Amino acid sequence: MSCIFCGSPDATEKIVFKDTFTAYQFLQAGNLACGRCASMLGDAKYRRNCWFMKGTEWRKIDDVLGFLANMPEPPFVLYLTLQKRKHGWILAVQNPVLSVNRFVLVVDESKIFFDRQRFTEHLTFLESLWLRKVPKGVMSGGYPSAGLIRKFGFNRLECQRLERLQSDRLWLFTVAFKHNPKLEENKNE
Ligand SMILES: [Zn+2]
Repeated sequence: MSCIFCGSPDATEKIVFKDTFTAYQFLQAGNLACGRCASMLGDAKYRRNCWFMKGTEWRKIDDVLGFLANMPEPPFVLYLTLQKRKHGWILAVQNPVLSVNRFVLVVDESKIFFDRQRFTEHLTFLESLWLRKVPKGVMSGGYPSAGLIRKFGFNRLECQRLERLQSDRLWLFTVAFKHNPKLEENKNE
């Protein structure tokens, strides 16, 4: 039988859901799971952390942007979370990373198309804004006002870029992870 989470053909464990489980829309037909997914369902670390899994190796990711800038050899499973409570890991095991240049990036219960070249350009721009202490709302807010242009010294190209990026999901998630205070807490655990 195939696993209701990842589709793997070696499903043998019968799954009983708790009342708190709400991600039924991600499941495939049946009631059996493979051993890997059964343990992921039961262990909160798969919901509460950003992580990657390659073969049997599992590792928590504290520096998400650093990881994305320098990924290990695929294939691997990658799960990112800002909210730390969703069941997006199910989407992650359904969308393993097969090429680090282009893949489906799972963040909470969203899927974002990841293109490495675009991400690298985003990171460079993000760092230049970060050094000027540009707040998150300005980074994701579209074409800046005249007051913000004066305050941060944006040139015309930067203003146009900010306008374009307000609807770019990869940019918005990059900005969110750069500003995520929970990731800072994790570093001190
Ligand atoms: Zn599975």
